[in-house]
Order: sequence, then C-alpha cells, then structure tokens
Amino acid sequence: MSSAADQITFTGNPLDRASDGRADPAWIEARLADPQSLFLPLYRGDPLLRDGRAVFLASAARADIPSRATAVFLGVRNDRAHFAVDLSEAPGPQDAPFADFGAYTPLREAAFALGEAGDDLAIIGQARWLLDWHRRHRHCAVCGSMTEIADGGAKRLCPGCGAEHFPRSDPVAIVLATHDDACLLGRGPHFPPGFLSALAGFVEACETPEECAVRELREEAGVALSNVRYQFSQPWPFPSSLMMGFIADAKDRALTLDVREIVEARWVEKGEIQSLLAGVKRDDIKLPPRFAIARRLIERWAGQ
Ligand SMILES: [Zn+2]
Repeated sequence: MSSAADQITFTGNPLDRASDGRADPAWIEARLADPQSLFLPLYRGDPLLRDGRAVFLASAARADIPSRATAVFLGVRNDRAHFAVDLSEAPGPQDAPFADFGAYTPLREAAFALGEAGDDLAIIGQARWLLDWHRRHRHCAVCGSMTEIADGGAKRLCPGCGAEHFPRSDPVAIVLATHDDACLLGRGPHFPPGFLSALAGFVEACETPEECAVRELREEAGVALSNVRYQFSQPWPFPSSLMMGFIADAKDRALTLDVREIVEARWVEKGEIQSLLAGVKRDDIKLPPRFAIARRLIERWAGQ
C-alpha cells in the first residue's frame, strides 16, 4: 500500500508543465506579469526556507528581483504560474535578494526540513535542475555562440547555427546486490566511515541500465550479478541524475574492491538491516536517509 510517506523524494511534482503554453513567448510574458504568479528564489540551487516551508514570492516581489537574474517557467497549479529565479550572483547566500525573508538552505538539509514527501521538494528539484543547467550551458555545444532561453526555459536556442539544446538528465544505475539473506553495502572515499549505501554508477554510451548495474558491480566490487530486477526511479537534482534502482542476485560473497571507487564494502544480514530500519543505532553501519533511493531499495528488500 502506498501513502504520501512512501512517495519517493523529488517525485510527484504537482505542476502542469504546460508544454503548449510555454512555447508561446507572449503567453510566458503574460504569466510573468500576472499578479497571481509565484516566484521560487534559489541561491546556487538552494531554496529559501522560512519556518520549515519553502518561500514562494508573490508577484509584487518581482520589483526586487535583479533584471539580470534568470527566470524559468516551472508550471501551473490552481491557475497560478510558478517560476524559478536564479539569485546566484550574490557573493554569499546571506547577501542574496530576499535573504531577510528566511534562509537559503542547502538542499539536503531542506529535504530533511521539508519532510520526505513534500510536493515542494519536487518543485524545488525541478527549479534547481533547470537553473543549474542554464548557468552551465550558456554556449552552443555545436558552434560556441551564446545561446538564448526559449520555451520559458525548457530549452536553449542557438542564434548562430539554429541548434536546440535541452536540459540534460544523466542516467545512473543504483543496485542492491543480494546473496541469500544478505545485501551488499559500500561507500566511496568521499563518505565518512560507516555511511554505507547501495553501489551506483553512471550509464555509459550505448549501455542499458541493467548492463551498467552488472558492469559497475564487477568493476567496483568484483561481484558477478544475475537476475537484475528494476524497482523504481528517482530524479536526483545534484545536479541532474536520473537514478534507476535495481535489486540483483550475486553469484557469491567474494569481494575485490576497486579502492579508488569503493573503500569499504560488506555483506549485511537481513536481520541487521531490519534492526537498523527499526531505529537501532550502530557506529559501523549508517543507512542512507529516506530521501535517497538507496534507502528505499534497502527497505523494499528487507520487507520481502
Ligand atoms: Zn550553435
């Protein structure tokens, strides 16, 4: 049975992306001028929070938005257009416009503060994803000209060669390898000791996510996988990953770690996982937070 608490974080965006409307510049202009429209301010991808809620600015605040700031259309809810505004030019979050309304909060902290299932997180994720892409893709990848925002921010157009550029999504296979009643958890060098998770890697050219899962586990842990089963997916706006979650069977429990990628890995019995999910604290194993798909994979497997 599913409930709001089971909703995967950053999914369930309530906005209608209005792909027909946004293609018309006059429609976008009218929505920008509409007093009903709402503006979501972000500083380098981080939302403005006040009293545990994301701040959406009313149209009157537009006067205080710097004219150079990029604004992109996100969608419509209840007849109100929602836009994201990039206020990243300020030297620090406390210097950015509207900082006195709340605090620009790193998105991982915001994910805790806003709860796991908030619709707002899906909107914030979309906003962060788009604004980050616009910041980093100002030039045409074909001819090098400066590109221009089109379709309210859903793409960029090159006036030099006519190329269209669309926001990228980087597919990632994340896989919980299992053997009998144990699952494999590990961590990369950028995580502190004990912070273990399912292993993951970017899908490479002309590769399926299932093939990627098999390759990553072989390369990083020396594990031979079979029966790779797709579970669910998650958009992961750090900055633009599409996480595809799998559970798979390992041939045996032998591990050969590629220590450049995985510095610690171990097989953890299902009973241990269940006690950790029930809240037992251990220094040697800390499971990922519920806003991460890895946690949801672990929960699904442990509940089977
Ligand atoms: Zn071009």
